[in-house]
Amino acid sequence: MDFSFTQEQKRLRQEVRDFLEDEVGRRLWKPSCDAWIQGHNPAFTKRVAQRGWIGLTWPREYGGHERSFLDRLIVTEEMLRYGAPAACHWFSDRQIGGSILSYGSEEQKREFLPKIVRGDIYVGLGMSEPESGSDLASLKMRATEEDEVYVVNGQKTWTSGASFINYVNLFARTDSDAPKHRGISEFIVPMDLPGISRIPMIDITGTEAWNDLFFDNVRVPKKYLIGQKNTGFYHVVEQLAYERGGMERLMGNYPLFDALVTFIKETKRNGRTLSQDTRIRHKLAQLQVEFEVGRLLMYKVAAVMDAGRPPTVEAAMSKSYATAFEQRLANTAMDILGPYGLLLGDSKFVPFEGLASHSYLASKGYSLQAGSREILKNIIATRGLGLPTS
Ligand SMILES: Cc1cc2nc3c(=O)[nH]c(=O)nc-3n(C[C@H](O)[C@H](O)[C@H](O)COP(=O)(O)OP(=O)(O)OC[C@H]3O[C@@H](n4cnc5c(N)ncnc54)[C@H](O)[C@@H]3O)c2cc1C
Repeated sequence: MDFSFTQEQKRLRQEVRDFLEDEVGRRLWKPSCDAWIQGHNPAFTKRVAQRGWIGLTWPREYGGHERSFLDRLIVTEEMLRYGAPAACHWFSDRQIGGSILSYGSEEQKREFLPKIVRGDIYVGLGMSEPESGSDLASLKMRATEEDEVYVVNGQKTWTSGASFINYVNLFARTDSDAPKHRGISEFIVPMDLPGISRIPMIDITGTEAWNDLFFDNVRVPKKYLIGQKNTGFYHVVEQLAYERGGMERLMGNYPLFDALVTFIKETKRNGRTLSQDTRIRHKLAQLQVEFEVGRLLMYKVAAVMDAGRPPTVEAAMSKSYATAFEQRLANTAMDILGPYGLLLGDSKFVPFEGLASHSYLASKGYSLQAGSREILKNIIATRGLGLPTS
């Protein structure tokens, strides 16, 4: 197997690096952990769009560039390496645009995809509910068909970026009598429709990136139904594979890894730099080995997508592995920094602006976000290994 990149791919990576290096150099933003999901920066998204790096794999007729998923992975890998604030376009570029492309009508493709590619609209994910996370097929939000609309009632939870998205990719029950996974439909719903309200969920890190969303008799025009009525659960299964197979869970905390390596090279304890301490060298070397293995798992996902097949098992493997890697990275940072690692970003003694404490606190949620590790292992066991379901 040939693991090398083509000249064109190397050029693309360098182009993205030069762009991001320039942005950081001009202090347009600061690299931070989890910026792909928490870094809301419309101007940055516009500049990325102008470079042609949103909708990279989509057909040209909808504004895309018809490049490979491997090329797309190169772009996202560099965005994550630099901790770039890409939250405005991340979800629509990664999976929602793909769902519109696979299942949407011609009118929907022409309406939404070019706007996503230009960085004009931001779409969030409305899947989870207070009582339906892992078992998404049990969701209770209802969309009742009337003449020209679906009337939507219910609650979504954890909705990332709901303070700035213009649309939400909603999954709701359209047939209560059908078996639970056969009665769900997919919608793209404008956030300014009357009856939608939001309460931010403030998490352990203090971020307000997540939200509870409430739908109270929201009248959604039928043109916003994606694909056939009652087929939404099958769309979700495909979307989740794309969601889990990206680099974000391996590299969402790369700015911390980078800062940690610089820190141990520059910091002296008892007259020696930390990098001369064998135990610390081994810890970081171990992380580097694990990181490179994680990259290979991610590239495998992209290769499967380029082969035209949803990477269900491969994405479950890579996300499960990557989550554990990021939790070990956060723990290692805490070990090396000692009590300083616990300090939050606003303390004057805090190392690298609180990246370590952010990562340590946030990493607990990584094994839930986009599917818990137990669920991913179930997928590997049943779909990958063919083991019985019970
Ligand atoms: C930071 C963050 C951001 C998120 N962003 C979004 C978003 O933007 N949009 C969105 O829709 N959702 C979002 N989510 C929600 C996420 O998809 C859910 O948290 C996830 O699907 C798990 O569901 P749950 O929290 O209800 O846990 P549960 O499903 O209640 O699971 C609780 C525990 O039980 C275990 N468990 C459940 N079922 C099984 C089983 N069959 N076998 C073995 N173990 C099992 C799980 O592994 C877990 O440990 C986000 C979550 C987090 C933490």
